Amino acid sequence: MSDFSNGAAYVDEKFVPITEAKISILDWGFLHSDATYDVAHVWQGKFFRLDDHIERFLSGIDRLRMSIPYNRGDLRSILVDCVKASGLREAYVEMICTRGRPKPGSRDPRECTNRLFVFAVPFVWIANPEKQKKGLHLIISHIQRIPPESVDPTVKNYHWLDMVMGLFEAYDRGGETVAVVDAQGNLVEGPGFNIFVVNGNKITTPAHGVLEGITRRTVIELSTEYGYEAIQHNLSADKARTADEMFVTSTAGGVIPVTKIDGGKIGSGMPGPVTQKLQEGYWMVHQDPRYTFDIEYD
Ligand code: PLP
Repeated sequence: MSDFSNGAAYVDEKFVPITEAKISILDWGFLHSDATYDVAHVWQGKFFRLDDHIERFLSGIDRLRMSIPYNRGDLRSILVDCVKASGLREAYVEMICTRGRPKPGSRDPRECTNRLFVFAVPFVWIANPEKQKKGLHLIISHIQRIPPESVDPTVKNYHWLDMVMGLFEAYDRGGETVAVVDAQGNLVEGPGFNIFVVNGNKITTPAHGVLEGITRRTVIELSTEYGYEAIQHNLSADKARTADEMFVTSTAGGVIPVTKIDGGKIGSGMPGPVTQKLQEGYWMVHQDPRYTFDIEYD
């Protein structure tokens, strides 16, 4: 019997235990980060906003001039079947399209056969619920995010060296996570999350140079429902340091409070009321059929 207890993957049109999933070392996804991907999640046996993730994924594939022989419906079935194969009720579900590999001796990307990979593993947290109660200590990095003119950040991509080196910088400086900046020093995003600050009833998140996160979108929708004003605008380091509240958003954990920047407290130094309300609202919509559907496990 195969052991799917650590997760399941879909590779070469077959479901396999995650420990048996393999990729060729000649695939440009591996050699050149030439890939796009998306991450959705399953919570209490329900997929959250899966169609929005599939839409963003297909748009990325298109913009990177790749193609796969699967439509929205095919992808949806593969993703659901992958979670069913894993049996996981709380899962982190990734879909990846790589460039594939060209013919031996060729460097022509047009000759590559693009490849789809899917996997479902136990849910991954940027900060687990215990850590979320206290809030994160974020460091504003000296490292600039790869500019949008070089790599379009609205296509979810694996250009992560800026963010990974930023994380090392944050750990060296006593922090827990990092925000990388644009050429003007404005905060853009971090390793796997978007950034928000709260001032009174105004909620601001960077407009440009970021992935348009699905969690970000959920928070903007909830803000409007709660009567907050959601603003998409540049976010300077000063504005972040003097905000009433700050939080980051990600599929890997939802709405995550940030309570310290570069060693200094934000507001009271504890997760603020607006952050907490949005955090509650985020988990509440996980029961809302407009956003979720049940997986019919065997
Ligand atoms: N920004 C980057 C660079 C990311 O990689 C991610 C997610 O992994 C996000 C933002 C948040 O996006 P989402 O809310 O869709 O998970």
